[in-house]
Amino acid sequence: MLTPQAAFDEVRLAGSKIKRATLHNMDYIIEKDIRIGDEVYVRKAGDIIPEVVEVIKEARDGNERKYIMPDRCPVCGSQVVREEGESAYRCTGIDCPAKLFRSIVHFASRDAMDIDGLGPANADLLLKNQLISGVADLYTLREKRDELIKLERMGAKSADNLLASIEKTKGNNIDKLLFGFGIRHIGIRAAQLLSEKYPSVDDLSAASIDDIQETNDFGLVMATSVNVFFRQQQTKSMIQKLKDAGVNMKSLTFGRKEGGKFEGLTFVLTGTLPSYSRSAATGLIVKNGGKVAGSVSGSTDFVLAGAEAGSKLDKAESLGIKIINENEFKIMLG
Ligand SMILES: [Zn+2]
Repeated sequence: MLTPQAAFDEVRLAGSKIKRATLHNMDYIIEKDIRIGDEVYVRKAGDIIPEVVEVIKEARDGNERKYIMPDRCPVCGSQVVREEGESAYRCTGIDCPAKLFRSIVHFASRDAMDIDGLGPANADLLLKNQLISGVADLYTLREKRDELIKLERMGAKSADNLLASIEKTKGNNIDKLLFGFGIRHIGIRAAQLLSEKYPSVDDLSAASIDDIQETNDFGLVMATSVNVFFRQQQTKSMIQKLKDAGVNMKSLTFGRKEGGKFEGLTFVLTGTLPSYSRSAATGLIVKNGGKVAGSVSGSTDFVLAGAEAGSKLDKAESLGIKIINENEFKIMLG
């Protein structure tokens, strides 16, 4: 997506020096009649991203020029298109380096796979040094540890931290993976709904447009977008690579019902329960709207512990997380 920015003489704003601000999109530029050479008011939206809010039209001397969106991508030179009903202009290049960079940053972002330490700077570093050429390569990056360590600003410690945080995301639920793919029109909520409807990524990739459209709140545009994404050869080979690397492709929230007893609650299972198998207990939690996570963290609500519970129990105790046994779990289930 091509996002126009304003570049101007440096000013101090809310404690920092800035010389760039977002102009959001072409509609915004036209609506506010923002021209090259204008004097503008700038503010920090939500205290983070500076944006141009208004033009000082009285200050114009007639030399201001209207801005025209380029019809070619400034990075790869491919054609830029604006789809019907959209304000965004997008690069159509298949191998656009800018698109690849954004796809890595998005994949690693918090709502997606949540890879600690893989922000824009490191994504750029990995791409520029050709250590990765797509998101799937992240999961085989440890084979290139020697090269990784040699990169500027990296070193053994950061490299190992990065590799460990990548490794940790292999077990993520598929909603994070689906959102991470950056499928057009599919936000995190839609990805969650898909992971509740389909038992696995394979089931979703084999689904018809009609079937996908039966997902709550899904329209034809969203369903088609998902279907088209999975039919592409690029997608198929990426998914195969991710599978080979051991990235989880099964839904941990399949069959989850909205508004269940466990809505919003995250459980961690440990040890052997007297009467439920691990998968039966997981099924009950999920069907009642809860989530099952693989490890104990600050966002865990309950640890359901059976016989011979291990280190997860110690961690839960140290974090003060409520530990329940099977009987208490049955009472919660009613
Ligand atoms: Zn491009």
